[in-house]
Parts: sequence; structure tokens; C-alpha cells
Amino acid sequence: MGTLRERFRNFMQGRYGVDTLSKVLIGIAFLLAVLSIFFGRIFYLLGICLLVYVYFRMFSTNYEKRYKENRAFINYKNRILALRRRWKNRLRMRKTHHIYTCAKCRQKIRIPKGRGKIMITCPKCKYEFIKRS
Ligand SMILES: [Zn+2]
Repeated sequence: MGTLRERFRNFMQGRYGVDTLSKVLIGIAFLLAVLSIFFGRIFYLLGICLLVYVYFRMFSTNYEKRYKENRAFINYKNRILALRRRWKNRLRMRKTHHIYTCAKCRQKIRIPKGRGKIMITCPKCKYEFIKRS
């Protein structure tokens, strides 16, 4: 028979186990449980459904499919993080720079603020125009 621990190890043999996606889902399930205190049972039920799904993935023997799900999730998460980073950079840039668009070729040109009226030369098509920076 063996100890409980050994039996559990035997049971988990060839099963997928916990990955990043599962951990995030467990976090969301926990959040839903907290929300259910304020917004009612439906959140609690959603959390339970999520946990059932997490267990299904954990005990799954279809390693390849679960692995792909996790990869897809991580790719998606990274895309969102990259978008957020770009958005933050743009916000920070707005304080110190103006972004002008070349009237001729639509090239975006970044000009530092606070230099009065200046002549801008498009780096791409050499078109010149005057703007207040
Ligand atoms: Zn241009």
C-alpha cells in the first residue's frame, strides 16, 4: 500500500500537474470567492467551476494539450504586458515631447517641448515645416 504520500505520487504519475495557468486560475477563483461576499452566490459558483477546471487540468494525462494551453496563456499575458509598457512609455513621453506627423509621408517625429517655434525637418522625406514645440 505505502504511505499516503507515496500513493499520491503514484496517482500523479503521468498526470499534468500544476502550471502557471492553473496558479492564475486558482488566484482568480479566490478573488471570486471574496467578491461573492459582496455580490452574491453567482461569483462563488463561478469560482467553484474554475477550481473544477483547475483540477481537471491538474489530473489530466493529455500533457501536450495542457502544455499548449499554458503556452497560449503565457503568450497572451506577455502581449498584454508589452501593450501596457508601451502605453506607459507613451504617457511618460507626452510630458516632455510633442509627437508630430509629417504632412507629406505620415512619419511620426518626436520633438522636445518648450523650445518655441522651430523648423522641423522630416528625417524620412526631408519635408520641412514649422511648429511650436
Ligand atoms: Zn516626411
